[in-house]
Amino acid sequence: MNIIEKDKKYIWHPLTQHKLNPETLPIKRAKGALLWDEDGKEYVDGISSWYTAVYGHCNDFIIKRAQAQMEQLDQVVFSGFTHQPAVDLAEKLISILPEGQQKVFYNDNGSTSTEIGIKMALQYHYNNGKPRKRMLAFEDGFHGDTLGAMSASGLSVYNGPFEDFFIDFKRISLPDAENLDAIKSKIKQFHDEENIAGFIYEPLVQGAAGMHMYSAEALNELLQFCRSLGIVLVADEVMTGFGKTGKNFASDYVDTKPDVMCLSKALSAGLVPMGATTCTQAVYDAFYSDDIGKGLFHGHTYSGNPIACATALAGLDLLGSAAMQENITNVVSWHEAFAKEMRAEPCVENVRQLGTIIALELKLPMERYGNLRYHIFNFCLENGAFLRPLGATMYIAAPYVTKREEMERLYETIRKVIKRFC
Ligand SMILES: *Cc1c(COP(=O)(O)O)cnc(C)c1O
Repeated sequence: MNIIEKDKKYIWHPLTQHKLNPETLPIKRAKGALLWDEDGKEYVDGISSWYTAVYGHCNDFIIKRAQAQMEQLDQVVFSGFTHQPAVDLAEKLISILPEGQQKVFYNDNGSTSTEIGIKMALQYHYNNGKPRKRMLAFEDGFHGDTLGAMSASGLSVYNGPFEDFFIDFKRISLPDAENLDAIKSKIKQFHDEENIAGFIYEPLVQGAAGMHMYSAEALNELLQFCRSLGIVLVADEVMTGFGKTGKNFASDYVDTKPDVMCLSKALSAGLVPMGATTCTQAVYDAFYSDDIGKGLFHGHTYSGNPIACATALAGLDLLGSAAMQENITNVVSWHEAFAKEMRAEPCVENVRQLGTIIALELKLPMERYGNLRYHIFNFCLENGAFLRPLGATMYIAAPYVTKREEMERLYETIRKVIKRFC
């Protein structure tokens, strides 16, 4: 049996209806912004393998640091023990996170990082003796696939079997100058019915929704209003974190800083899985007590894994380097030029960009995981570009180290998609 046959025999892939989409592409090797399949065909990784490998795949600097850690200490229980990479990473994170973040709680993926964020918000009020039972989130938000994270997610097309088991989440639209007052009164109404414990939001860019972007000023006003009601602000920066928006964090664009932050994806540079949930001293203090039951009794076996911590630390060293910042600046300026070009395309609408993320809509009738989307996806692969359309949305979130000619291949592929399908 070849690899594809064995894959079919043994594997159940994520987000896949195997009856309708039986094809999987075996990838053999990766370096920088490039992936190679079993037949040696090359692809530019236009989405940094789901926003993880932002410093490039198989980055020598990061591999060296991970390898050194691997030989020193591989894994140890993080309840009752600690180690240098965990402490160094926490110190480094706190130094670059938005003002106020003071404690780091390690976990192992994006969904667990938001799950813990939600639990922190709920237990914060519980511990303070005034339990609140309701949560707030945006329509079309995405916060992960575990049960709590899923109930926070408004992209509910496939949530049907589970909706009866969800946490009570109320939803609001993305804010702009026009609808702010209406949103505020809606929140007030929700809050009067049943007190809202926390608000979880993807600041400035809703990734899974199709790279929806919205204004920092409007978000800021909304956050201020929520804070005035005692609502814990949980920024889900799993996708936006670590330079993608042009700043280290999307929350850096917003004056009102979060109480809790959820991090993953680029945190560990695409090398190993890792997540972290961070919070302010005030949140932490609500759990600090002589009463053992007020602790956060949440733990994952691989929490604070030393290799993941060392990898993340190496990634942060790269992010802070002049060379990586220059890469980011270059990508931003290439995207600006391409955005201008795309705005003149009759078949394209809603061209938008924030930092290294650029997105546009094709004026085509497309379902999120429909047939046409599938054809476009394969057409991109044939052209050596790994781009993953979300419905009619094409977007690029390529590694910062993508070379000019590699980025050009992504742009050229989008031009070809327009020619072929519009
Ligand atoms: C991807 C993502 C998650 C979930 O992360 P996983 O590691 O896939 O569980 C949560 N929130 C946002 C904003 C994401 O983009």
